[in-house]
Amino acid sequence: MIDLHCHILHGMDDGAQTIEDSLHMAKQAVSEGIHTIVATPHHKNGKYINEKNEIIQRVERLNTYLLQENIPLTILPGQESRIYGEIIKDYQNGKILTLNQTGKYLFIELPSSQVPNFTEKLIYDIQSEGLTPIIVHPERNSRIIEDPDILYNLINKGVLTQVTASSLTGRFGKKIKKFSMELIEANLTHMVASDAHNISGRNFHMQEASDLISSEYGIDMLYLFQENADAVINGNVCFKHTPEKIKKKKFLGIF
Ligand code: FE
Repeated sequence: MIDLHCHILHGMDDGAQTIEDSLHMAKQAVSEGIHTIVATPHHKNGKYINEKNEIIQRVERLNTYLLQENIPLTILPGQESRIYGEIIKDYQNGKILTLNQTGKYLFIELPSSQVPNFTEKLIYDIQSEGLTPIIVHPERNSRIIEDPDILYNLINKGVLTQVTASSLTGRFGKKIKKFSMELIEANLTHMVASDAHNISGRNFHMQEASDLISSEYGIDMLYLFQENADAVINGNVCFKHTPEKIKKKKFLGIF
């Protein structure tokens, strides 16, 4: 398995803090059948700034450690950028990293409780650079939960989305689990990744999520997600089913 979203590089953000943390996470990943991880430190989320060159160097160093420790896992460079106005300028200035440096896919994180007004314009600008934005964990954005059509519209404009494994397994509560499943059912998400930060509260849960996807939606859906993860790291085109609107359950009041 490939895990596209993981905070395994130590000392860069709120993920692994020490090299021991990184190695513990690596062993846990391998035990779940993960052979490749895209390391995606937070960037410009108000707390952390992690630019392209530093991330690439840290990935090389961690791969050397993994070889020394005989852990059969490959780390690829990535970045999780919070949406911000200067992202295109920073991309042109070499501060922004596409996933595995293919020049194709960019992870974009929205703030947790809103979708900024400039989102659509910025998405357009990102696409004009020849990049495909992937919105990470839309299932945890309270504005999107409230109005899923916002996401439907962005997907119709060519955005991809990544749902979090532990959202599907219930780590963030029943509401987010249910909404994650609705996103899959309506073809509003295209890949699953762990967003693991550690091996306690924010663990991988990739095996558990994979089992759930294949039992609920069939093995074909799981293969689709896995093939898309492979397409992302190779810079190939992802497969998409036609997105549908999530039908809101009508409140049954007195008529
Ligand atoms: Fe993340």
